[in-house]
Amino acid sequence: MNAGGGAANRALQDEVLALAANAGFALAGIADARPSDHAEHVRAWIADGRHGSMDWLANDLEIRLDPRRMLRGARSVLCVADRYAGPRPDRRSDAATEWPPRGRVARYARGDDYHIVLRKRLRRLAAMLRERFPDERFRIACDLLPVLERELAARAGIGKVGKHTIVLRPGEGSYLLLGEVLMTLDIAEDSRARAKETLDPCGTCTRCIDACPTNAISPFSVDARRCIAYTSIEHRGTIPDDIADATGDWIFGCDICQEVCPHNQPSRRSKRLPVLEVYRERRSELDLLAILGWTEADRQAMFVKSALRRAFLPMWKRNALIALGNALAARRDPAIERRIAEIAADPNEDDVVRSTAADVLRRLARSP
Ligand code: SF4
Ligand code: SF4
Repeated sequence: MNAGGGAANRALQDEVLALAANAGFALAGIADARPSDHAEHVRAWIADGRHGSMDWLANDLEIRLDPRRMLRGARSVLCVADRYAGPRPDRRSDAATEWPPRGRVARYARGDDYHIVLRKRLRRLAAMLRERFPDERFRIACDLLPVLERELAARAGIGKVGKHTIVLRPGEGSYLLLGEVLMTLDIAEDSRARAKETLDPCGTCTRCIDACPTNAISPFSVDARRCIAYTSIEHRGTIPDDIADATGDWIFGCDICQEVCPHNQPSRRSKRLPVLEVYRERRSELDLLAILGWTEADRQAMFVKSALRRAFLPMWKRNALIALGNALAARRDPAIERRIAEIAADPNEDDVVRSTAADVLRRLARSP
């Protein structure tokens, strides 16, 4: 359908956006389905190896750069977002003194698995759209299809992409989960002018770059190989010493670049923004010593309906060992160090786990 532009187009946009609101999404906008405006930047990022071992990003690259490759005849993309956290500061006041130490989980993974939550409502939204526009075709994304969701969200006016490469809403923050419905429905306006105008929500700010413990961020680019969100969740091998040392107590993801962002600081407006009950925190920290004793059955039982399932058992043990090592560097504990030595020598442990345990002990031996 071509809406013919003007008032008719706007009426259809309003109708589609009302369906998204009806499906419970906090935010929605419509992007046109043209190819990426940043193709050269994305190609250079991949060519430089900054995607680490996320081979699917390289394999799907050309498809990812053009949403029309995922839905023949796509004309527009309905972009939606849920807020998964408010602007309040993290951590209990006794976090620095608690013992035995615990490991911290990134906020997006503390409640129900967003994939399940978002996809369920995206499917319902697509069904409503099919019923209303029976001659059109619709296909949902949300990590199911290779699309550049941050660029599309910015194009749709959901927010702006910050120097840390995450979509943020000025004054409201960046704790947003994104989803998309590709549509043959031809109702998007050309958002090229908006893309230019929204390119930089940061001005002279460099807080995220300065705060990133692993120096992963350069303006509008993150080297995944140095980012804790990648090393702790996507990367399956051992982790280099400098990254491990800088990982602190994070055991699944990292929120530092978002926590320091001025747009995520509490304000009268941001404190009033609602968060869906399903994203309320169920698990923000985990017992590091307990993780070292987990079996695969324990891991599965712990993470029913949780995004924490994404990391495999050896990755959880590797991450727990690194966080323990970082805690032990500040406060030695012979009993915990003996436990790590047992793991380093245990032939039943995964190679990555044994090797990480040995690395932790080696670094501890060097520390004062
Ligand atoms: S998530 Fe953490 S490690 Fe990754 S870029 Fe942000 S601050 Fe750096
Ligand atoms: S911390 Fe500053 S530079 Fe980084 S995304 Fe937020 S506003 Fe931009």
